[in-house]
Amino acid sequence: MELIYRIGFTLRMLHRYRRALLQVYRQTPKCNAAYHRSPQDLKQQGIEVVVLDFDGVLAADHALLPTSEMQQWLHDCLALFGHEQIFLLSNKPLPERIAYFEQLGIRCITNVKKKPYPDGLQQVINLTQYAAHQLILVDDRLLTGILATCIAGTQANYITQPYVNVRHRPLSELPFMLLRLIERGVVHLFGFISK
Ligand SMILES: [Mg+2]
Repeated sequence: MELIYRIGFTLRMLHRYRRALLQVYRQTPKCNAAYHRSPQDLKQQGIEVVVLDFDGVLAADHALLPTSEMQQWLHDCLALFGHEQIFLLSNKPLPERIAYFEQLGIRCITNVKKKPYPDGLQQVINLTQYAAHQLILVDDRLLTGILATCIAGTQANYITQPYVNVRHRPLSELPFMLLRLIERGVVHLFGFISK
């Protein structure tokens, strides 16, 4: 039942925030990975708080730990922003992932409604007391994370080149690849409708 409500909410918000979504979709290069923007780049852009999705952004779906390059990125991010200003906001907060982030001192936002509900981002805003535009969510899904940023008014780094592991987990990976493709198609279509 929760899924049905979430789909209904997504469709309503997709319609309401279609222009903001389209802007992110059109402005993001086709091969944007999280490590393409260094923590220094984010800081220079006026970002004070970094919120991270996990699947696709830090590692492939179902992975328990970030890839080695993203572990390095996280350490650089920690050195620059400090652990008080980095958060994990994943729709799949597995215990092993939470344990990894907690030992780094990074807080994981759990027990909130899943993205695209803006509740997780709102909680980060409340905890840090920064303005919404000083927060960035790094996420690979247009109709979950990126839509949540449009609703909450935060910045978004839309990852169009997510980590995938098709060779080892084709059955679990392919549905997510298809979902990402459908999301892009839907937003693209809205671009024509809303003209
Ligand atoms: Mg993801």
